[in-house]
Amino acid sequence: MRKKGCKEDDLFSFLSAKKDLDLSYASILSSMCTPPHPVAVKAHTLFIETNLGDPGLFPGTASLEQLLVERLSTLFRSPGGCGYATSGGTESNIQVLRIAKSLCRKESPNVVLPESAHFSFKKAGDMLGLEIRPVRLDSQKRMDVEAVREAIDANTCCLVGIAGTTEYGMVDPIRELSSLASDLGIFLHVDAAFGGLVLPFLPESPAFDFSLPGVSSIAVDPHKMGMSTIPAGVLLLRSLEHLCTLAIDTPYLSVKQEYTLTGTRPGGPVVAALAVLEYLGSEGMEAVVQGCMKNTRRLIAGMESFGIRRVVTPDVNVVTFEAIDIPEPWKVSWTREGHLRIVCMPHVHAGIIESFLNDIGEMYA
Ligand SMILES: *Cc1c(COP(=O)(O)O)cnc(C)c1O
Repeated sequence: MRKKGCKEDDLFSFLSAKKDLDLSYASILSSMCTPPHPVAVKAHTLFIETNLGDPGLFPGTASLEQLLVERLSTLFRSPGGCGYATSGGTESNIQVLRIAKSLCRKESPNVVLPESAHFSFKKAGDMLGLEIRPVRLDSQKRMDVEAVREAIDANTCCLVGIAGTTEYGMVDPIRELSSLASDLGIFLHVDAAFGGLVLPFLPESPAFDFSLPGVSSIAVDPHKMGMSTIPAGVLLLRSLEHLCTLAIDTPYLSVKQEYTLTGTRPGGPVVAALAVLEYLGSEGMEAVVQGCMKNTRRLIAGMESFGIRRVVTPDVNVVTFEAIDIPEPWKVSWTREGHLRIVCMPHVHAGIIESFLNDIGEMYA
C-alpha cells in the first residue's frame, strides 16, 4: 500500500471513476437485486457501525433482528418461529443443510432437490459431503412429484422445494412435497429466497409456507424483493430445537453461543430489511409486488405480439422467452437451457418495459 495517504479529493475522484464503470440499474433486466428503498438506505446508515456477531454489545440492533424474524415468521404463518439474518440465500441454504445433516445422522446422506435448484446447494453439498440428487421437472418447469418419490431413499436427509425458481420463476408443488415429507419423516426446506417476498402479496398464489405442516424451514432474501440493502437474507425454522443444532460455544464474546455461519455480521442491512417492511406495511408491499407482476404480464403480452413466445407462465416476476438477439444497452440473462430471462424488479418499471418492447419491436415486429 501507499506509505503516505492520498488526498481525499483525489481518492474520491479515483473511486467515482471506477463507480462510473458500473452499469446503471435502468438498463439491467437480469438482476434479482434492485436499488434499495430510500428508507432502507436511511436505516442502514443509522446502524452502519453495528455488529450482530457480538449482540450483547448491540442489544437494540439484536432486538430488531428478532423483530424481523418475528415479522417474517408471522407472514409465513408460523408466529412462534425462529431464525436469524443471514448474508443471503446461499448462507441460508448451507445452514439448513447443516441442520438436516445433523438431525438425520446417516452414513452417506443425500439431498433431493429439483433440477432448477440454485447453485448454492452444490456449494453446500460439497462443503458438507452430501450427495445432491436433482430430480426432473414437469412440462411447466415444476418439480415432478413422481420423480421425487423415486429419488428419495433411506439416506435422504433433506427434501428441497423452490418457491420462485431463479431461472423460470416457478413454484414447486410444495403442498405435495409437504405431504411426502410428513409421511416419510423427512426434513423439508423451502427455498423462497426470491418468492418469499412476492407470493404473500399476491391475491392468488400457491401455498408454500409453514401453513403446510411438512415445511420445516424457509429461506427468504430481503435484499431481493424486500428492497433492503445488500446483504440481507433470513433463515426461518419452525422449531427452535432444529436451530439449536447449529449452536457453537463462543468463548470471548458477549453471548455464550451463536447459530450463524459468519462471525462478524452487519446490522445495517438487517435493520434496513425491517425498516422497509414497517414503512410499507402489507398494503405497500402489495402495491410494489402487484406492480411488478403487472409489468411481467405486459412484457409477456408485448413480446408475444411480436411472435416471441414465453417458455412458461411464471408464478413470480421472472419471465423467460425463446432466444432472440438483444439490442444495446439492455442487460438480460440466459438460462442454462438458453432461454432469454428477464426479472421484472421494482426498478424495471412500466416505462422501462415499454422502452425495451419498443427496441425489440424495431427488430422483430
Ligand atoms: C438468489 C437465490 C439464491 C441465492 O441467494 P444469494 O443471496 O445470492 O446468496 C438461492 N436460491 C434462490 C431460489 C435464489 O433466487
